[in-house]
Amino acid sequence: ASAAAKLAMQSGYPICLLCYENVGYAGRVNSPARQNHRVISLKINDTDWGLQYSPYVYYNEHCILFNKKHTPMVIDRSAFEKLFDFVRQFPHYFIGSNADLPIVGGSILSHEHFQGGHYTFAMAKAHVEEKIVFKGFENVDAGIVKWPMSVIRINSEDKNALVDLADKILKAWRGYTDEEAFIYAETEGEPHNTITPIARMRNGRYELDLVLRNNITTEEYPLGVYHPHQELHHIKKENIGLIEVMGLAVLPSRLKGEMEKLAQVLVTEGTEGVRRDKLIEKHADWAEEISKKNNITAENVHEVLQKEIGIVFAKVLEHAGVYKRNKDGKAAFERFIDYVNNK
Ligand SMILES: [Zn+2]
Repeated sequence: ASAAAKLAMQSGYPICLLCYENVGYAGRVNSPARQNHRVISLKINDTDWGLQYSPYVYYNEHCILFNKKHTPMVIDRSAFEKLFDFVRQFPHYFIGSNADLPIVGGSILSHEHFQGGHYTFAMAKAHVEEKIVFKGFENVDAGIVKWPMSVIRINSEDKNALVDLADKILKAWRGYTDEEAFIYAETEGEPHNTITPIARMRNGRYELDLVLRNNITTEEYPLGVYHPHQELHHIKKENIGLIEVMGLAVLPSRLKGEMEKLAQVLVTEGTEGVRRDKLIEKHADWAEEISKKNNITAENVHEVLQKEIGIVFAKVLEHAGVYKRNKDGKAAFERFIDYVNNK
């Protein structure tokens, strides 16, 4: 749908939901009213941008930084410069971008925007488990983050050094193929490799997390090889964007009703009852598995389900990671780092 929206002819007013022209708009049948919408004007890299708070409030002070011009999302050197120019002005906020390709990107690829906020995600708390030295960037602290997705963290007082290094890593990744690790830069002219970047200040230094993404699909995984696989779709089937990447599960609203029902049926009829119920039968295999692991009672059922959904979400992130957290995945990750260093 995101890919189709990007191609769709742009017409109407405002052009899209992120456009500055939404301020004060009365709305129409297929475009929401925004009479009480307010935008703070900012300069980012000497161009005109707007800052607004998100109508979705996924976390504290969830905000959107958007270009005042309706122009497509692109992850390139200038995107890194923009992220750092924002955290320079708002050192208490993080800022990140969805990737610029469908499946691994966000919902709106047609209008350049970033998402930020005053919130510390689990990924920001995760530490570097393996140090890297990038040739020519000895003043930059770098490493692989202990996280289910594939994250390179770079940190320095010098933001220009970080921009140079991030640009080098991005360019290397865009063109990188490693058949043994099932990483293909492109198939039939369709590019697959991109990055989800997140910038923040840490103890007075600039920091950037670069999450390696690939959106290849196969007959076995038509929604994406690095996307939650079939067996997790009963919980999460949607794209893994910036917020999920950082460790906050944005789950489909249908789960609210389904988990209520599942809790009730598990306690009264057990897993057989789950299989008989049309609304929740898709959760039956999972329910059986978690019933074996946990002694489910009326008192603890909600707590158990919450904990187990968290475990599924961790698997979702593992599926979205291009390098798995095992021996082969580690070796493949190192091959890419060597490739960057030899470029
Ligand atoms: Zn727009």
